[in-house]
Amino acid sequence: MRTDVHTHTAFSDGSDLLSMVEAAEDAGLDGLGLTDHCIVTEDAFGRRARYDLVETHERRRKAIEAAREGTSVTLYDAVEMSYVASDTDRIRAFLDSAGFDYTVGSVHFAGEYDYTSDAPYLGEDDAFRRAAVERYYDAVVGLVESGLFDVLGHLDLPERLETLRGHSQQSDYDRVGAALADSETVPEINAGRVNRSLGRPHPDPSMLERFDGHDVAFVLGSDSHRPGELTERIPELRAVADETAVELVETELILA
Ligand SMILES: [Zn+2]
Ligand SMILES: [Zn+2]
Repeated sequence: MRTDVHTHTAFSDGSDLLSMVEAAEDAGLDGLGLTDHCIVTEDAFGRRARYDLVETHERRRKAIEAAREGTSVTLYDAVEMSYVASDTDRIRAFLDSAGFDYTVGSVHFAGEYDYTSDAPYLGEDDAFRRAAVERYYDAVVGLVESGLFDVLGHLDLPERLETLRGHSQQSDYDRVGAALADSETVPEINAGRVNRSLGRPHPDPSMLERFDGHDVAFVLGSDSHRPGELTERIPELRAVADETAVELVETELILA
């Protein structure tokens, strides 16, 4: 593993940029993708998020340029954009004007559903939970088909939540795989919960072989918000890559 394509800095909800660069050096990485959160949607979710690369990306760009002077790690000026189908035009306009090195698209919420917290699903039954998960994969397929993004983030995010875990089905992975096969968007193996409640990466490693038939290859992302997370997760990602013999894409291929 040479590049971590998914990390956050203090320009969204992560840590000091230089501390992340140092952690990447310590982990022996050649490349580090700085993918701060970005939300163009003006709904309850967007307002609740107190960070937004829409406002900070120009300042962050200057900080990245300064950081490049002091490191041999290649720093990518990138973004994790929350994909919302109804905001496709605004997302495209922002991404075109910002000119990031590459873009990660992630579904964090869709319609009435929020996939970042267990709270909405506590006390709900299996049918409600399954409907939420099905809606998630509808949005993921829409994200891939939109052609807006170089990378698809954490493709089975509902598995992070205790309330929604186990509600993803093989057919969900299959339809995401089919959409990816027809697109230039590359999915990531994401280590955001590898040492927390989930205890494994996304997508579920037991589902990885379902992507073989679609000839889909992956990039690796730690989704770290703190330097210590990066240090911990890079070896885990390396192990997944070795143990599953999953096909990896060279970072150059995801650059916009
Ligand atoms: Zn995310
Ligand atoms: Zn992230």
